[in-house]
Amino acid sequence: MNTFDQVKEIIKNSNNIVFFGGAGVSTASGLPDFRSATGLYNRKNNSAYSPEYMLSHEFLINHPDEFMKYIKENLMVDGIKPNACHYALSKLEKMGKLKGIITQNIDSLHQDAGSKNVIELHGNIKDYYCMNCGKNFDLDYIKKYEDIAICDKCGGIIRPDVVLYGEGLNQDNISYAINLIARADVLIIGGTSLAVYPAAGLIDFYRGNKLILINMEATSRDNIANYILQGDISKIMEKLVEDDDEK
Ligand SMILES: [Zn+2]
Repeated sequence: MNTFDQVKEIIKNSNNIVFFGGAGVSTASGLPDFRSATGLYNRKNNSAYSPEYMLSHEFLINHPDEFMKYIKENLMVDGIKPNACHYALSKLEKMGKLKGIITQNIDSLHQDAGSKNVIELHGNIKDYYCMNCGKNFDLDYIKKYEDIAICDKCGGIIRPDVVLYGEGLNQDNISYAINLIARADVLIIGGTSLAVYPAAGLIDFYRGNKLILINMEATSRDNIANYILQGDISKIMEKLVEDDDEK
């Protein structure tokens, strides 16, 4: 049996699958991958600052107007829809096979596809709050402003509820993710170069022997996987959850 068929069989036989995903999951939807050759970090921009610095806590504090402008131009992409990978995972959850999705993405495409149990390690670009009083705001409110949005309650600066460089991850999210991974029968990791810590370190909590890695390119951690599938994750996931009777 080839690897694809083996993995399909594993998914078919498990009801305790956990998915850990990165930027590659959203690239088929047209969102830029951060670290690949064509990704955001390698794109030329018209600023004197690096993308990493423009997405840092320090940059938000020192240049809030430029920070928000950068966020709006590069991360708040309109009209982006979930792809076949998002829908495949949503289907697995509805079938009672997938216990949770842990994602490094901030685009909420998993929820748009109907997934319920989604842990967003880096927050969500659709949620905002006032840095002064903590009041929550949605995307519609933010879009009324050209650069910095101002709180209607206290006049404070509003920021996205995402984890920036120089900021720590939410500890409740981390604990919950560790718990899911440690209990998982099958762990599917997809669309991530596994380069970002501590998020990538989470997978070390997996205790099973069905670790499936799905990626376009080889990663530095390929050796930890029991099964490796290389290629477009949206196509692979779609085929993996496809009912053979539907063909
Ligand atoms: Zn406020």
